[in-house]
Amino acid sequence: MSASHNRRLALLFDIDGTLITTGGAGARSWRLAFDKLYGIPADIGEFTDTGMTDPDVGRKTFEAVLGRKPERHEFARLLERRLHYLRQTVEEAEHYRVLPGVEDLLTGLVNQGYLVGLITGNVETAAHIKLHRANLNRFFSFGGYGSDSNDRAEVTRIALRRASLVYGEDLDEDCCLVIGDTPHDVAGAHAAGVACVGVASHKFNSAQLAEAQADWVIESLEQGLPKEALE
Ligand SMILES: [Mg+2]
Repeated sequence: MSASHNRRLALLFDIDGTLITTGGAGARSWRLAFDKLYGIPADIGEFTDTGMTDPDVGRKTFEAVLGRKPERHEFARLLERRLHYLRQTVEEAEHYRVLPGVEDLLTGLVNQGYLVGLITGNVETAAHIKLHRANLNRFFSFGGYGSDSNDRAEVTRIALRRASLVYGEDLDEDCCLVIGDTPHDVAGAHAAGVACVGVASHKFNSAQLAEAQADWVIESLEQGLPKEALE
């Protein structure tokens, strides 16, 4: 059967830990933004966890270090400074890297006619800043971002709607597949009715991803996506 007859059409990739690792550039950009605006080099790792979206990370860290909620204009300013510094910290990150197999896999998938998108807790601009250094933005024609919702399931549903808009027809959940490196990715995908491939190439191993009920688990994108996951 040719790719065009496959059920799966739209493939949604998580960014951090799945496609790239930024070597701490994200946390450094928040620290610089808080330091510049409030003289507090805040460590987001103390107050937030990896499954949170960028707006949640900013809000929770603000509340923790300043002991109050941000005013609307303060929050907007914080997000802007964070993006400003992110460009710099990503560019300078010594340990930024593209994970093994990513470029070949994405090239192969677009050549087979799959529509490739993003699913991430990053706000949209942060996602593209992070991918820019490795010249990976060109593969992704749509996505769901942390700037769309704080709920990963809703981000997944929004990404699916955007895929439908690109195709010009309604796609159902079965047409879509999420590829991510954490139990949060699996849970977010499943809550939206979408299957998920867990990639054990970063902080979670295959046993943990299997326990999180990933539909398929692979060690690295270098081995390609499971054939059954693409059908
Ligand atoms: Mg990730």
